[in-house]
Amino acid sequence: MDIPFLNLVAAHDPLSAELNEAAARVIASGWYIHGNECRAFEEDWARFLDAKHAVGVSNGLDALILSLKALGVGEGAEVIVPSNTYVATALAVTHVGARPVFVEPCLDTYNIDPRRIEAAINERTRAIMPVHLYGQAAEMTEIMAIAARHGLFVVEDNAQAQGATHKGQKTGTFGHCNGTSFYPGKNLGALGDAGAVSTNDPDLARKVRVLGNYGSQKKYYNEVIGYNNRLDEMQAALLRVKLPHLNDWTAQRQAIASAYLEGLSGVGDLVLPATHADSSHVYHLFVIRTKRRDELAEHLKQEGIGTLVHYPIPPHLQACYADLGFKRGDFPLAEEIADTALSLPIWPGMEREQTDVVIQAMVRFFNS
Ligand SMILES: *Cc1c(COP(=O)(O)O)cnc(C)c1O
Repeated sequence: MDIPFLNLVAAHDPLSAELNEAAARVIASGWYIHGNECRAFEEDWARFLDAKHAVGVSNGLDALILSLKALGVGEGAEVIVPSNTYVATALAVTHVGARPVFVEPCLDTYNIDPRRIEAAINERTRAIMPVHLYGQAAEMTEIMAIAARHGLFVVEDNAQAQGATHKGQKTGTFGHCNGTSFYPGKNLGALGDAGAVSTNDPDLARKVRVLGNYGSQKKYYNEVIGYNNRLDEMQAALLRVKLPHLNDWTAQRQAIASAYLEGLSGVGDLVLPATHADSSHVYHLFVIRTKRRDELAEHLKQEGIGTLVHYPIPPHLQACYADLGFKRGDFPLAEEIADTALSLPIWPGMEREQTDVVIQAMVRFFNS
């Protein structure tokens, strides 16, 4: 049985009538950008998070850029980001003219280590951008306390953890202005590119809305130098169909993760994901670590099982950041994760039988 790394059709198939109806409704409406679907989805998303405001935008990277812009973080500023993250977090900082300052993760949760943040703060630091990586909420109480002590903004990168909580509060509601992505593979995925900003501050919500719509509130009256970062009606309508199923999909991801955790415990040198006592994990990714990572990935591939590495090169070693002057060894924990991490198949609709096939293939690899 071939098992792909990800199968999005499994979640869409049962909703196909509703998705088609939503698409047909948008096509027939004659209105394709910033209309009723977008407004309705923004309200639904804010309600889901329990945030006061949500603004639909074009994608996750733009959500992070607009958040930093709205907070006035730009030229000359430093922004603290995790050394272990998808490059988009750092790119958002670079795109507003600021400098990403990397801070190492905890090796058990893979999220930014709050105990290492203060050493990276100086007079140029303006913001901290925690990432709820792989689907687990970062230690937000600690991070918000550090930010308050130093007068810094917090921008959560909530692209991977929609629905996760820290001390019962949803990610995307702690920071001053937060971004998420509805890239198709995310826990709540559109059928194209989409994203959203969430905030409890009406002024920041307005700023994001204006910046992302050519700097204008009133058509053809441009208050500031804006961008085109709008969410389209088609994606908003499709996201409205999918959002009511997110909690169920999260529960399915957590059940698959439980099966992996049980079936893989004590196997070979595997390091399995750990969840912080105060956080929940929505398993956007199920990431294991092993010194035999490449060999294991090849073995699974031979057995028809798809895996991916998140991420093979940490941001500080990417060619695009060569000018920051980092070298191998500068962020050893991020590098260790990049060298040993492997993401196993996980998606809503994945059958228990498929999870067992993956587990058995891994047990065979380590026992042979
Ligand atoms: C996916 C992702 C983004 C960017 O989202 P896009 O919609 O692809 O622009 C940002 N940060 C993290 C951690 C992500 O996983």
